[in-house]
Parts: sequence; C-alpha cells; structure tokens
Amino acid sequence: MDILLFGIQGSGKGTQGKKLKDHYGMTYFETGGELRRLASEDSELGHKIKNIIEAGHLVDNDVVMEIVENFLNNAPEGKGIFFDGIPRKMDQKESLDALLNKHGREYKGVILDLSEEDALDRLTKRRICSGCKEVYPAKYDKDSCEKCGGELITRTDDNAESIKVRLKAFSDETMPAIEKYEEEGKLLHVDGSKNIEEVDQELRQVLDPILG
Ligand code: AMP
Repeated sequence: MDILLFGIQGSGKGTQGKKLKDHYGMTYFETGGELRRLASEDSELGHKIKNIIEAGHLVDNDVVMEIVENFLNNAPEGKGIFFDGIPRKMDQKESLDALLNKHGREYKGVILDLSEEDALDRLTKRRICSGCKEVYPAKYDKDSCEKCGGELITRTDDNAESIKVRLKAFSDETMPAIEKYEEEGKLLHVDGSKNIEEVDQELRQVLDPILG
C-alpha cells in the first residue's frame, strides 16, 4: 500500500513523512526535494526549475511526471511508498492515478489538517540545514543543525511573496484534487496543528490498520 501525504505548506508533512518511512520501513519520495536537486544543477532545465520554485509557482506537469515515472520504474520491489508533494493539482492527480494503476499499486491519501493562518506563521519562521536539509521550527533557537552541524538558513522560497503564491496555489489548485480523493473514499484526516510527537502518534493510529 502506498500513501499520498497531503497538507498545506508548513503542515509538517516532510518531517512526519520521514519519521513514518522509518517506522513502517517504506520508501519515501519527495517531489519538492527531487525538484530542488534538479534546480541545483547547472543546466538549462536546472535554471528553469530554480526560477519557478523561487517564485512559488508549480513546475510543469511533464517534468514532474517524468521524475515520478523514473522513480517508480526503479522503486524497490515489495515496499510501499510515501509520496510527499504530489499531486498538486487536478491534472496531476489524474496522471498520478493512471501511473499508479499502471504499476498495479494500491494507495490512500492522508491529510495533515492545518489552517492557512497557522501555516503562514510556521513558514515565515522555519529554517533548514544548509547541509542535510533537516527542517527546524521557530522554537529551535540554535544556529546549527543538531544532526550534522550544518548552518541553518531560510529556504530561498520561504520569502513573503513566494509564500503568498504557494498558499494560494494550495487552496485553488491542490485542495480540489485532495477533495476528489475524499469523494472517492480514499482520504484519511489527522490534526496537523498539534506538536510533532502528537501528530506522529495520531498518524500511526490512522495508518496502523492499513500499513501495520
Ligand atoms: P515543497 O518542498 O513540496 O514545498 O515544494 C517546493 C516547490 O517545488 C513548490 O513550490 C513547487 O515549485 C515545486 N513542486 C513540488 N512538488 C510539485 C508538484 N507536484 N508539481 C509541481 N511543482 C512542484
């Protein structure tokens, strides 16, 4: 069984997804991380993606779906996958559903519910490690990463203008795709406003019956 992790930016999907992947021994696929890796390459495609990400817009579907297809073609056999960051809009949902069906994969979605106000607050205050990319919330007050010692920086797309664009894209484009999974009976909900440990516990309660 694969799991599509949903949540407004800042809802903690990356943090929780990585914990869950270890707990359930699953594979993890983060679209944003893959795109940021491509964006760091000194190529025409890399520069194009970098500009799109920094402006807070969505990367073209064909680029995103090609990355997903490559990943699925090389995914380890017999292991479930956590998908973080996809689909982001209705046509992507349709492409992803078709691709997962083609590969004979079963899946469900889980959303970390969080208000736009709380998301905005978390995004403007979070920092990431410039080395290992670990994400740190506002309350972490040191300047270096506790995992690798790297310097903590603000993500280049966590600027006021890009945040505004990304939150609007979430409500206008991503929410309709998520609601479609709800209509199809494929969506589970978890309260994303609680602290990291509480959200982790709640996620396990919801996921244990299908993954445990
Ligand atoms: P994230 O780390 O999930 O917040 O993604 C960072 C950025 O990567 C987004 O603001 C988009 O520019 C791009 N991105 C991530 N996932 C997708 C996707 N599924 N479709 C299009 N663009 C994406």
